[in-house]
Amino acid sequence: MKPTKEIKIGKVKIGSNNPIAIQSMTTTLTSDADATIEQIHELEELGCEIIRVAVPDIESANVLKQIKENISIPLVADIHFDYKLAIESAKYADKLRINPGNIGDREKIKQVVDAAKQYGIPIRIGVNLGSLEKDLEKKYGLTPLAMVESAMRNVKLLEEFDFTNIIVSLKASDVIKTIQAYKLFSQRSYYPLHLGITESGTIFSGTIASSIGIGSLLLEGIGDTIRVSLSDKPHEEVKVAKQILQALKLRSFGVSVIACPTCARANFDVSLIAKQLEKETEKIKKPISIAIMGCGVNGPGEAKEADIGIVGGKSEHLFYKKGQIIKKVKENEIIDSIMKEI
Ligand code: SF4
Repeated sequence: MKPTKEIKIGKVKIGSNNPIAIQSMTTTLTSDADATIEQIHELEELGCEIIRVAVPDIESANVLKQIKENISIPLVADIHFDYKLAIESAKYADKLRINPGNIGDREKIKQVVDAAKQYGIPIRIGVNLGSLEKDLEKKYGLTPLAMVESAMRNVKLLEEFDFTNIIVSLKASDVIKTIQAYKLFSQRSYYPLHLGITESGTIFSGTIASSIGIGSLLLEGIGDTIRVSLSDKPHEEVKVAKQILQALKLRSFGVSVIACPTCARANFDVSLIAKQLEKETEKIKKPISIAIMGCGVNGPGEAKEADIGIVGGKSEHLFYKKGQIIKKVKENEIIDSIMKEI
């Protein structure tokens, strides 16, 4: 896969050989700066690296400065319909996300581009199958090709204004169409790609859709930053995004818990311990693998591979550290003993 252009979003570089960055979007009212800042802090702590806020009104644009000054990850302003909000947001945001299809005519888009140039920030062209330009929809239907044509048209427009500080996304709620659109676009362009499945659903169905969609593209070397969209708290989006990148061994963050599926041989409540452990360790940044295994069938092998392992025994359980058994623990000591070791 050919490398993409490197683009800077505040202090985070994406594209080229940079790590795939995790982003999310706040669910607070952006104009409620305190609530928005608080949510961004929580997301930062979980590993969110770029945060997007919706800017639906001037009140929201007016608090971007305050938000920016109180957070330490890059801030992206998401604007639809009103080019004036984009121009105002460019003063403080580290990136603008616009859907040129709904920003209006050429002159308005030019003014947004001029503002981005003035403040040295990139623009993401966010194509969405649900809001394609009517002529493209008519010509190609609601297809991946229509999405790609929309993106190419808007890229060309920005390039005509001598602007190449561009990121592109081509989102649909249909996983297959999304994958096809990104693949097609990446053959035709070198701009970095923001991956996501839009309106992907609740935490259960959305995690599956995003893992398949984002995951299969990443496996082919396509994608420079990801956003998992869930109808849930953005905290969950960040956690799922981290898991996708970690499962593909593209990044390693914090603790990964490997747990057996349990069966009649399990000597303790594997599922409960694994869940508790994930919760206890979600803010730890050090890459540590922990295997929680119910019995001695596959347990020793997995426990030896991991940094820390627990293998269920009859009354006490074996505690592995770096492949060696170092002690035995009771069920109610498992969590504490692992946390101490970490
Ligand atoms: S490790 Fe043991 S308890 Fe866990 S699934 Fe395998 S056989 Fe069952």
